[in-house]
Amino acid sequence: MDFSHWEQIPRSSWRMAVLVGANTRTYKFALGSALLDAAAEGRSEILLRDLAVPYAMELVRHLGQAPQVSQKGERGEKDFLSVAEREAAESLRLGSPTEELLAAAIQSMPRMVMRKFHNLRGEGAEVPHRFYEVTGRSHEQVVRLSKELRDIAQSEQAPTLRGELSARWSIVETSFAIGIGQSLIREGVVVDMSTLQITDRQRRRSVAGVTDSVIGFQRGLCLICAEPITPEDDIAVDHVFPYSFMRLLRPGDQGTAPDLDAIWNLAPTHAHCNGQKSNRPPTREEMTRLAQRNEAIMQSPVPLKKTLELTLKHNKHSSTRPGEWLRFIQHVHDLL
Ligand SMILES: [Zn+2]
Repeated sequence: MDFSHWEQIPRSSWRMAVLVGANTRTYKFALGSALLDAAAEGRSEILLRDLAVPYAMELVRHLGQAPQVSQKGERGEKDFLSVAEREAAESLRLGSPTEELLAAAIQSMPRMVMRKFHNLRGEGAEVPHRFYEVTGRSHEQVVRLSKELRDIAQSEQAPTLRGELSARWSIVETSFAIGIGQSLIREGVVVDMSTLQITDRQRRRSVAGVTDSVIGFQRGLCLICAEPITPEDDIAVDHVFPYSFMRLLRPGDQGTAPDLDAIWNLAPTHAHCNGQKSNRPPTREEMTRLAQRNEAIMQSPVPLKKTLELTLKHNKHSSTRPGEWLRFIQHVHDLL
């Protein structure tokens, strides 16, 4: 996959682990969240049983809202998710996992989600940094948290990473819901411009914010100035090609002009950069960054990827040819 322009830093590896890769279940997000919490406290190690508590609780909270497994995912009675469903109500009432749920989490985490967290799609492919290591045996297992993980969890970018993780979780679990998932996968997502939320067409319900959903794919950087967007900054969602250009765009060969109110053309920026930009067309650098951002989203699973594929298809561009986003964006620029 093409992340060659991403710096090889731990934060990029974290983003790849969370944002990219096929998901048939949501365990990875629950683990990611529990790891960030533990590392934010500056800990270098934590008992597996202590890490299992927030992990299990995050999952049971999400179970109440949406399915945590894809329709294709098969599972048996001993499956951790089956146990979580049985124990969810009681665990929520207690405010902590039941004995049975905790035991199931401790048993399944090292064998399953903790083995896969660093994996990327493709045989044997892994992110270049390690965030933890499981040591010790059976009931005394200890999770050593790496310095890279602590640095990430204590950095000023940590809230951004949390937002990304949570948006990704919502998008993935929404894609698991019967019907809605199918329509999202078939039609892609739409953006409600009044609230800047990605919404599912069928239920007209918001899934996640545009900023949280895509900022990770542009590495947390402002699309205009390419500097980091920090939690203190005011953020705007920029139309990279200004919306007012809609009526100026000549229809392409296919008879309709590209939609400028869609994910492919929307990017988080500093509010002040956005204000200064006003109604000018994007620069060459901005177009390149937008193309790279969109190429990165294309590496993530449905439905954001599907949305971008549909944009390319509707505009008679290939959704599989490498480098197609830059060609498409240049093509839109030429329509002006
Ligand atoms: Zn900026």
